[in-house]
Amino acid sequence: MATCLSRRAHPDKVSFRLYKDGKPKFTIFTEFRCPNIVEGTKVCEECSNKLPMYKYQANQKCDHGLIGGPYPKDSKLYGSPYYLNCIKNGYTILEIDEQRAKEAISKATMQVDMTKAKKVIKLSSKPKPKPKATKSAIPVIETTRATQESSMVTPTILESTELPIVVSDITVVKVRKIHHENKDYYFDEDSGKLYEANNGVGKCAGYYNTETSTLDPRAESDSEFNDD
Ligand SMILES: [Zn+2]
Repeated sequence: MATCLSRRAHPDKVSFRLYKDGKPKFTIFTEFRCPNIVEGTKVCEECSNKLPMYKYQANQKCDHGLIGGPYPKDSKLYGSPYYLNCIKNGYTILEIDEQRAKEAISKATMQVDMTKAKKVIKLSSKPKPKPKATKSAIPVIETTRATQESSMVTPTILESTELPIVVSDITVVKVRKIHHENKDYYFDEDSGKLYEANNGVGKCAGYYNTETSTLDPRAESDSEFNDD
């Protein structure tokens, strides 16, 4: 269950004043996270109806932004542009009030962090139920495990880098014998390559187009064939 991400202001009785020359002046509010439960939305229904420049700070209609996010112009919360402007103009905050305001922020933010942490746990625990769900995919799971282990052990990595080379050296291609321009060739239908036929499969002569019965000799300059 997630709770509304909306930042709200505590009622007046929890608020405090800013001082100048020993006299209390502007009222600053402390924040809390809206406790309403939400499903699939960031903010609850009431909090989605914010009214600009709303008269009462502690009313849900007053926009204070989202927990952890920037403070809107309307907000008179500790840390808001309104508050910072007061400080800039020489007003001071009592140490006890600042401590209280900071505690309120960390309390509201901590609730968000906890929600995030819960999400992370959910994500990391996701792969675990997977093997149970995919009953028929047991070999796949084993392969994944092997890959993870091999990436941790250096000698295994060396072995695995050799693998592709060995495979390409002994690649088995199915060929069929064809006659083209008075010569015999072996034709690999999968790759479209034509190999010279002299006592077995010889050099690659190029790409053969079965529809037009033409041989494309461009393969001679193809680096892939220079290895043959
Ligand atoms: Zn709300």
